[in-house]
Amino acid sequence: MTQPTASALVLGLGCDRGTAFATLQEAVSQALHQIGAQVGNVVALASIDLKADEPCLLALAQQWGCPIHFYPAAVLAPVPVPNPSATVLRYTGTPSVSEAAALLAAGTAGQPAPIHALCLEKHKWRGADGKNATVSIARLHPPMSPSMPPESHSSMTTSPTPDTTTAPATAGKIMLVGIGPGSAAHMTARAREAIIEADTVIGYVTYIKLVADLLDGKEVIRKSMTEELDRAVTALESARQGKKVALISSGDAGVYGMAGPTYEVLFQAGWTPDDSVQVEIIPGASALNSCAALVGAPLTHDFCAISLSDLLTPWPTIARRLDAVAMADFVVALYNPKSGRRTRQIVEAQRLFLRHRRPDTPVAIVKSAYRRRESIVFTTLDQMAEADIGMLSTVLIGNSNTVVRHGLMVTPRGYANKYDLEQNGETRDGEKRGRSLSTGLLGWLETLQAQYAEGIAIETLAQQYRLPTDYIRATLLEPISELASTDTAEDEV
Ligand code: SAH
Repeated sequence: MTQPTASALVLGLGCDRGTAFATLQEAVSQALHQIGAQVGNVVALASIDLKADEPCLLALAQQWGCPIHFYPAAVLAPVPVPNPSATVLRYTGTPSVSEAAALLAAGTAGQPAPIHALCLEKHKWRGADGKNATVSIARLHPPMSPSMPPESHSSMTTSPTPDTTTAPATAGKIMLVGIGPGSAAHMTARAREAIIEADTVIGYVTYIKLVADLLDGKEVIRKSMTEELDRAVTALESARQGKKVALISSGDAGVYGMAGPTYEVLFQAGWTPDDSVQVEIIPGASALNSCAALVGAPLTHDFCAISLSDLLTPWPTIARRLDAVAMADFVVALYNPKSGRRTRQIVEAQRLFLRHRRPDTPVAIVKSAYRRRESIVFTTLDQMAEADIGMLSTVLIGNSNTVVRHGLMVTPRGYANKYDLEQNGETRDGEKRGRSLSTGLLGWLETLQAQYAEGIAIETLAQQYRLPTDYIRATLLEPISELASTDTAEDEV
């Protein structure tokens, strides 16, 4: 079969685990030879995400300077191919890897190229190492609208010259838009502008609904919650065709949102910040900001966020973090606290917190902040697991100083440690305006030195301050005079 060699080609690749680079190279050169094509025609490689760490594939992509796309089995499986295989299905979850991957990478906007774009059906080669490599080749579809940026077309040159005949008219862009909690009033002007600017808007169904009024005349791609990587792959493919793509996340895209997965997909595809596809992240108010604003001022002291979702994070990791922050007296915002299937996590979180915090520690549960079914419930640590908590709730747990007064949850910043708030804000005895607290680092070091000089053992001091023994020991060895001279009022506002 001889095909025109001038077109831009995508190679779909499959191989056994541990296939030698030489075997893959042989398979690939035979495949290209069969259709009379050159390495220089290849604009991208593609395979299944199971092979994302396969050394021979990564080596080929690197040697050719080509992006390589890895698709999940669920994305490859529905692609119509000429040679589906039951064996491949059993091992990988998709009946085709190389043909489906080639067609997907050759297509547009996440849609595979039609079957006739396949110019070489699955070519299989068993190398001297006894391993099998398969290669399929597809032409970009449509041919004049390449799904790769111009620089990746000259795969073997080190300083590529942009090929203007195949370059998209405008450079594509991926915008990661945080839309805030859900109400139009709490979305930033830039977020709104970015969605209006976009040709394609991709997001979870609920978020798409939240911005429905901005979507007229746009391509809208609704994806389910579990298709995050797929959303990112689709965004990259559309951007490669010169489209502006808005990937929308609730809250902030960088907080348990699409920003991380998108960069992972981009890096895997060989993207760098110099690429013609630009990336912009548009910040939004995260759930912890919105929920805190509704209940008072719970986050005015050190706080952290922990997601209770164990879909991608092992429970011991989550539990260790819960234990550490409970012990360290952070105010905590629990994201993804509970779902239909994940009901035990919040009970375990409560158990860990009760080891370090008082049972009456204030807790606020905010559901659907700034959305239609908004609800706020105040409770306490010992009662929180019985409260109505779901996928759309954020749980805010106070620290040991947090109070609820007049229906408001407030964590003091610590002014009362220093100033007598009932005496016109006079400084307390031993405290100085504009200076660190007497129990600040310098004051504490002096106390520590004095206690040590009195003969109190390092282990006892470590226990008293709940700090590691080696930290106390190291601290005692440092002279404190230098610190005294650099003490300034810089952080007092
Ligand atoms: N990127 C989002 C978080 C996504 S994780 C952000 O920055 O807010 C999803 C979790 O966020 C939910 O399980 C819930 O805990 C929290 N969440 C998102 N929107 C919320 C809202 N409007 N009200 C309460 N919690 C919300």
